[in-house]
Amino acid sequence: MSKIGETVRGNKGRYKIVKALDKQGAMGLVFVAETTSKPKTEVIIKFARVDVKISEKRLVREIKLLQLFQETKPKNVVAYIDESDESEEELFLVMEYLKGQDLGARAIDRLKPKIDAGTVIRFSKDIAEALSDLHKLHAIHRDLKPENMVVVRRNDEEHCILVDFGIGKLTTEDTTGDGIGTDAWSCKHNFANPLRVGEDCDVYALGRIMFYIATGQHPSRCEYPLGDDKFGNMWAKAVKFGANAELSNLIDDMISYSGYEMSSDGIKRQIEPAHKFETAEQVLQRLGEPWAQALAEPSAYKQQKVQPRKYTTPPRQQLLQGPHIIIGGERKEIVGNRCEIGRAHTCPDLDRDCSRGVLHAGMDGGFDYPRNPDIEIPLIGSPGKSVAFMHHIRIWKDKGEWYVRDLDTTNYSAILKNNNWEPLNDIVTRKGKTMMLDQNFTKLAIGYRFGGRTEIEFSFYKQ
Ligand SMILES: [Zn+2]
Ligand SMILES: [Zn+2]
Repeated sequence: MSKIGETVRGNKGRYKIVKALDKQGAMGLVFVAETTSKPKTEVIIKFARVDVKISEKRLVREIKLLQLFQETKPKNVVAYIDESDESEEELFLVMEYLKGQDLGARAIDRLKPKIDAGTVIRFSKDIAEALSDLHKLHAIHRDLKPENMVVVRRNDEEHCILVDFGIGKLTTEDTTGDGIGTDAWSCKHNFANPLRVGEDCDVYALGRIMFYIATGQHPSRCEYPLGDDKFGNMWAKAVKFGANAELSNLIDDMISYSGYEMSSDGIKRQIEPAHKFETAEQVLQRLGEPWAQALAEPSAYKQQKVQPRKYTTPPRQQLLQGPHIIIGGERKEIVGNRCEIGRAHTCPDLDRDCSRGVLHAGMDGGFDYPRNPDIEIPLIGSPGKSVAFMHHIRIWKDKGEWYVRDLDTTNYSAILKNNNWEPLNDIVTRKGKTMMLDQNFTKLAIGYRFGGRTEIEFSFYKQ
């Protein structure tokens, strides 16, 4: 029943199955496939296992959730691409291909550098960001463990991406669904009272993973044996195994309880201790503190103290001459031979890292940060949403030539070439490409979807 070599039909395109993924999940059959349309892209296809009863139910659940995430694209979560067309006999899910090891394999890979404190901070931030975005959508993962995170290389750094939503659910659903977590990592609520499992339990599980990667010790070996009021409490903090003291305190807060939850009649319910940390934001806030920044990027942290250059806006010209952008029927001049387009916001955004830590690396060209985009894409609806990233795309002139670059967005940008939209990103690494604008008139887009769909189109005039 090998599927290799077969071509299957999705809603948006066809996929040729190339090979089985080395590591097979217990719940699905996973393959690497290639899109048959151009640009040829490698993707992951997941089928249900016919030999495992709940496998299909989990796949249906995963498809539903990943599809839901597509709209807002939570950070550091594997991206949905497509699913099986109705004409296909077997249900399947098409996802982006994350090239890398899972965190479990990475942690014990002796050929790779040991995971240091800075990497622990970076991975923790990646997953906390993913959780923060997921929780805003009222979605919980419920099965965080090192095997459900893929370590990929982005911008020359290792980063963690969250995968496998087979037992994820919306907190608005009042069923538990199938499957309740993984013993060693999941919060004990998963087993004691599955309906109680919430966002705070995802944060707890992340804490246990951080304990593991910070110490090399399996957390379940460092907790008291389960008893009446023992709920995975640890007999040793991470610092005992050599972890940074502040990091150890953070981990300890994530996996500690603040007392017992009261039932409505005010009686202590021994089986349901309350989590000390309730949200992923609490984790992100701590990870934003100076000690964590210093651990994550010692050199960048020092540089931060240098005063940034002041940006001064050149005076606006009365007449529209020279290079400009036409967007939404309006002509906007490009002042100073450079222009950035992004979501309307006050830069820097204090709630989110709008630089995403990378935008400006190796690409000054006169662009300063923090600074609001020259052309701001307004938010639509309530709460306001925008398809554009806060800093999405840049256009600039260098040595007489014009260039465009997507700023490593996960929503992508595109350029129209020979009547075809071409992504300005590598779909796998999400890195933006720099392309020369050699025509006097070029159509560009913010938001590029698999299959050539774009979201906001605009034109660039060199003149
Ligand atoms: Zn819990
Ligand atoms: Zn900004």
